[in-house]
Amino acid sequence: MKKSEYDFIILGGGCASLSLVFNLINNKIEDLSFLIIEKREFYTDDRSWCFWERNCNNYDHLIEKSWEKWKFSRNNNTSYHEVHNYSYHYIRSMNFYRKALKLIKKSKNININLGETVLETTIKKHKVYVKTDKTSYFGKEVLDTRPNKDAFSNKGTLFQSFLGYELKLNNNNFEVASIMDDMRINKKNFIFDYILPLSKNLILFETTFFSKRLKSKDFIKKELMRKLKKYDLDNNKIVREEYGVIPMGFIKKRNKHKNYFYGGQIGGAIRASSGYGFLRIQDWAFKCAINLKKNKSFLSHTKEKRIIKYMDKLFLNLLIDDMSISPKLFFNFIKNISPKLFIKFMNGNTNYLECIRVILSMPKRVFIKYLLK
Ligand SMILES: Cc1cc2nc3c(=O)[nH]c(=O)nc-3n(C[C@H](O)[C@H](O)[C@H](O)COP(=O)(O)OP(=O)(O)OC[C@H]3O[C@@H](n4cnc5c(N)ncnc54)[C@H](O)[C@@H]3O)c2cc1C
Repeated sequence: MKKSEYDFIILGGGCASLSLVFNLINNKIEDLSFLIIEKREFYTDDRSWCFWERNCNNYDHLIEKSWEKWKFSRNNNTSYHEVHNYSYHYIRSMNFYRKALKLIKKSKNININLGETVLETTIKKHKVYVKTDKTSYFGKEVLDTRPNKDAFSNKGTLFQSFLGYELKLNNNNFEVASIMDDMRINKKNFIFDYILPLSKNLILFETTFFSKRLKSKDFIKKELMRKLKKYDLDNNKIVREEYGVIPMGFIKKRNKHKNYFYGGQIGGAIRASSGYGFLRIQDWAFKCAINLKKNKSFLSHTKEKRIIKYMDKLFLNLLIDDMSISPKLFFNFIKNISPKLFIKFMNGNTNYLECIRVILSMPKRVFIKYLLK
């Protein structure tokens, strides 16, 4: 018979949850019981995680491809970035999921239930009750990682919606990773392409929209196909599709409970002004496992530094106010700061002085107009 009581229950088995699994195993935490409840029946290669990090790092065993140079373009201007000993790394989610599932299978104290949906949770004095579509459980503590766009504040949140195809190529003419290619505006949406040459005959081509409302897959497809046609790639074989919507904003205030925690996107792991979250999730998972070992309790994400929150709010409000400035704002920002500072900004590691340098690198007129409002 299956157990119904666990020390720790994790709702959702995605990036945050499985990153914690890697750290539980690394820290040899074997005296506490964990249950992960995941609604998917099986995992698919649904996303790729990219991030800037040193060349030899903790994720080497998962990295499929790294680029030492990356670029951005607007109109006919291109800006190239490279930083000594740093690369833009690519992890295929399926490899990450497979590795985590293998470790869970070997583990005696970590269980995962696939194909089970969490319906409801009730916080009791010393336990949390979790009701699913199959049964119910009790946990001493619960970590909720179910993404929920309604958890984000309505004011000041933008949506980053994207659709991409991994395409087979006969000849790959793309060499450098294009992070924001052909930044443009169309009907109050900020649009750019994300182009990753994965191998000699494989490319990931994505079209991204920043907008006040999220965009459907069909909506983005029209623009993506237009761009693929332009590159003469519209008849190439599609081997994988990646669609996603990332809210760019801040989580609303919610009541705190000593036995209910939030992790991953819903825990505030995604950088508000960029949508990047993978490295921040890794940092949290590392610290959370240490806390579990020492204090036998989950850990929330570290609060965003005030200056970073201020800078991100400023950035988002500027875009929300007048999306038409986005291509110029982003391109000037990228061109005017050092590639090293750019990486720190994307990873959310900038100190006060660096934040001021970032702000000063943006078009002055636009900022003054905003600050005077
Ligand atoms: C397509 C895509 C690409 C991204 N690429 C990057 C990138 O390149 N770099 C980067 O830094 N960040 C990236 N991000 C942002 C961020 O890193 C990811 O969203 C990351 O997966 C967030 O982890 P998470 O655990 O919070 O959510 P998820 O990984 O989405 O995991 C949540 C899990 O909860 C499950 N779930 C939901 N509801 C229930 C329920 N009721 N019951 C049980 N289970 C449930 C879901 O099935 C899912 O498996 C990307 C996001 C997306 C969507």
